[in-house]
Amino acid sequence: MLLSLARTRLKEPLRGIMLWMDNVLNRSTPLVVKEGNVEALAKFLSESVKRPVDKVVAHDGLSLLEMVASVAYLRSRKALHAVLVDYTFVNPPGITRYVSEQATQNYRQSLTGVVQMIAQRLRAKDYIRVSYVDQIIHKYGEAGWTVFLEHLDVERIAEELSELASRGCLLVFSDHGYDVVLDEEGNLFVTHGYRLEAGRGRVILPLSRFSFVLVVFPAS
Ligand SMILES: [Zn+2]
Repeated sequence: MLLSLARTRLKEPLRGIMLWMDNVLNRSTPLVVKEGNVEALAKFLSESVKRPVDKVVAHDGLSLLEMVASVAYLRSRKALHAVLVDYTFVNPPGITRYVSEQATQNYRQSLTGVVQMIAQRLRAKDYIRVSYVDQIIHKYGEAGWTVFLEHLDVERIAEELSELASRGCLLVFSDHGYDVVLDEEGNLFVTHGYRLEAGRGRVILPLSRFSFVLVVFPAS
């Protein structure tokens, strides 16, 4: 049902991503035990990112779509290296609190606390929390997919990342992405942590449950 809706409603990149997510969800290994755990993420990153990281960005609400668009922009327009890390972080409720509650004792129970924790594990000097996408979701998501896209300035996101990466190696992660939901009237809207039992529509793209990690660094 979801797939057939997606086929009629969504254009090519989204359709491809959905099929890929379907695959991830159907994997035989358990998803949440490791993939939904901030400690496990920090451990994985400290072992797999070989390059010293200077700054860590927690990008609230940044979904796979903006990450992929940013990779393309940073590579082609800015001649930066931009690499998506081979790790899918799973956030089952699709909300910030799921992540911020995992901040360990010495850190604030917030996304800022979590980014500080990850930065220290990676021995990065600096960290920052960016809330731009989350704000756009809350301000314009309900008004519909088209209105949301009109207000979401992906170039601004990529441009900011480019500026930060010009001063050293940047690692970007997000706490959740967003869901694209088809309501009963046949309109698409955007939210995060959409609850299936809420009954107002059908989730076409459950991107708030998945988040990703991007590493950006200067070419030389
Ligand atoms: Zn939010």
